[in-house]
Amino acid sequence: MNIILLGPPGAGKGTQAHRLVAEQGMIQLSTGDLLRAARSSGSEMGARVAAVMDRGDLVTDEIVIGLIAEQLDKGAAGGFIFDGFPRTLAQADALGELLASKGEVLDAVVEMRVDDDALVERITGRFTCGDCGEGYHDTFKKPAKEGVCDNCGATGSFKRRADDNEESLRTRLLNYYRDTSPLIGYYYAKGLLRRIDGLGEIDEVAARIKTVLNL
Ligand code: AMP
Repeated sequence: MNIILLGPPGAGKGTQAHRLVAEQGMIQLSTGDLLRAARSSGSEMGARVAAVMDRGDLVTDEIVIGLIAEQLDKGAAGGFIFDGFPRTLAQADALGELLASKGEVLDAVVEMRVDDDALVERITGRFTCGDCGEGYHDTFKKPAKEGVCDNCGATGSFKRRADDNEESLRTRLLNYYRDTSPLIGYYYAKGLLRRIDGLGEIDEVAARIKTVLNL
């Protein structure tokens, strides 16, 4: 099954994608993660996108479509979860073509709805373990022991994203409503859209996603 998790920054796409990976054996394709990996590897492309990402603007369609094409070539028996991609209509068209060229289809698009105030609160408090990627939050999900990752036991490796600040978030939200939200209508017209309430406990939201996907 190939699905898209669609929603504004902070909607919980990455968190829920991790759950689906663990429980359903799907593969998460996050263009944000792929771009951050390119940056930390010191590649020329990574250096080119750094300032754009820190500002909260969108990287060019050409770059992100190229990254996705590369990953699709590797295949995934359990299917793909697209997280943070597509973000523009051109990316959505390209994804349709890439999947079709491999004899694959998109099965569903889950729109995670969360109001803006909650997004700001979620994003400005979040951090992750630099070793295993487990996500945390200053208010909603603190590690059991301060400074130690519950999941892998790493110490002192928590990190915060450079673009998780209020100014960059404002730009990311504007870009979401301007460039990405038209995808809601696009996938609705294709009969693929499944809407869920993204507010609530992680487990509750995960259960809603499973319900709309018939999992
Ligand atoms: P994310 O981790 O999904 O919040 O993405 C972090 C940043 O990476 C975004 O603010 C953009 O600068 C860039 N980015 C990630 N995915 C895309 C995409 N599909 N199209 C354009 N830019 C992207």
